[in-house]
Amino acid sequence: MSERIVNALSFDIEDWFHMVEIEAVADASKWDTFESLVERYTEWIVQTVTEANVQATFFVLGWIAERYPNLVKLMVDSGHEVGTHSYWHRKVYELTPETFAEDLRQSIDVIEAAGGQKVRGFRAPSFSITPGSEWAFDVLLDAGLEYDASLFPASRAHGGYPCDPRPHTSMIAPSGRPMPELPMTMMRLGPATLPFSGGGYMRLLPGWLLRKGFDQLNAQGRPTVVYLHPRDFAPDCPRVPMSLKRRLKCYVGCGTTKDKLKMLLDRYDFTTCTAVLGL
Ligand SMILES: [Zn+2]
Repeated sequence: MSERIVNALSFDIEDWFHMVEIEAVADASKWDTFESLVERYTEWIVQTVTEANVQATFFVLGWIAERYPNLVKLMVDSGHEVGTHSYWHRKVYELTPETFAEDLRQSIDVIEAAGGQKVRGFRAPSFSITPGSEWAFDVLLDAGLEYDASLFPASRAHGGYPCDPRPHTSMIAPSGRPMPELPMTMMRLGPATLPFSGGGYMRLLPGWLLRKGFDQLNAQGRPTVVYLHPRDFAPDCPRVPMSLKRRLKCYVGCGTTKDKLKMLLDRYDFTTCTAVLGL
């Protein structure tokens, strides 16, 4: 009998209006005027995961931590890990190293002030560390971060970085310093490589296909990395104008995610990103 693989359970904590490249919500000065769903759904997530006796990693947006410090406190008090998802949710490859460093510092400061736990890990908005923005790893290391979970080893709309798809020590920082990396996981389906374990992919795909992905990776001795957002659980997510393609991507299957998460918690073992990386 092979050893049970422990998978990584992570959540990117932001509000529905932090979706990227949607004209109607792009102006950050208007964010405070939108109806928020982050508190309600994050509380449900923390409670559900905690009741399953699982510790998870919450990559919190600094903008959220500043407005809802109690959410960060709830995560820490419930035994979870808190990482950063940046402050303003801007794509890393569109920033300069200086602007990214400033944004990152601001996020770490508010998250640590809210939760009293050292921030050790980072996940880029939209997996936006791409070829050409390897400098981001030096910024992360200079900020004292101990691992990254931003690389998406397939092409996608706002990101994608060709790399070893397993947890590994990345050497892409221009300074040559090593950085533990937990890339997003993909499954093989016939000739295709398919993301399945988070966001729109998890909302869209049926439960049996999710299990197939988990079973396939775990049989190879590899953990699956789950990433979900509060809005992935929200069938009542406010609707704003966007293209049909984006509408499908943003809203499809939101009513199925609670049951899918519960099914996965029942069936598989999970822990934090730091634990999966052995940190
Ligand atoms: Zn995000």
